[in-house]
Amino acid sequence: MELNKRQEQILQIVKDYGPITGESIAEKLNLTRATLRPDLAILTMAGYLEARPRVGYFYTGKTGTQLFADKIKKMKVEDYQSIPVVVNENVSVYDAIVTMFLEDVGTLFVVDDESLLVGVLSRKDLLRASLGKQELTAIPVNIIMTRMPNIAVCYKDDPLIDVAERLIEKQIDAMPVVRKTEKGYEVTGRITKTNMTKAFVSLAKDDV
Ligand code: ADP
Repeated sequence: MELNKRQEQILQIVKDYGPITGESIAEKLNLTRATLRPDLAILTMAGYLEARPRVGYFYTGKTGTQLFADKIKKMKVEDYQSIPVVVNENVSVYDAIVTMFLEDVGTLFVVDDESLLVGVLSRKDLLRASLGKQELTAIPVNIIMTRMPNIAVCYKDDPLIDVAERLIEKQIDAMPVVRKTEKGYEVTGRITKTNMTKAFVSLAKDDV
């Protein structure tokens, strides 16, 4: 975040004199408390300053880089996830390929008749199955999918950065966002490398 001139001045005053009240900062700048309010709010929200009731403003001592890291760690899966595309475990490999094209996704999540997660199908899983001489309309996806319990899943409240690390570590493109029930996992969302790219762009635009 770029600070404007007045915000820089406020920061300097708090560094030099903090803890200091908003009133006293305003006096030093020959401004009214009301004029300063938006700047103080921005500096506090961005993490440069901390406000303690009846004491005043403190300088947190965090550098721009630390604050940026804090901001990244606060990004949650639910704010960046996409709608999941699921297929039943009994559909054919052929139908799964068609679904992948129609829905324009690179990963399908496979569910059983109770809509619980049982597997994952990637582009290469489907390509591999297509290399054989089998009849693709006759092979159900549950024969070729990666299956539970080997599926990496995440939750809507997980920090996005943790999921990004796991995508890298496990060398996969996507993870289902799930809700745990007594019977198993319900698929509620999808996080992919594309979502990570979008999150990266939103950071640059200061849009998080
Ligand atoms: P692709 O194979 O098209 O490059 P991935 O890298 O995502 O796509 O998939 C690599 C392998 O990992 C595939 O066999 C796929 O079934 C499996 N896979 C994909 N996502 C997951 C996941 N969330 N958990 C476990 N395995 C996965």
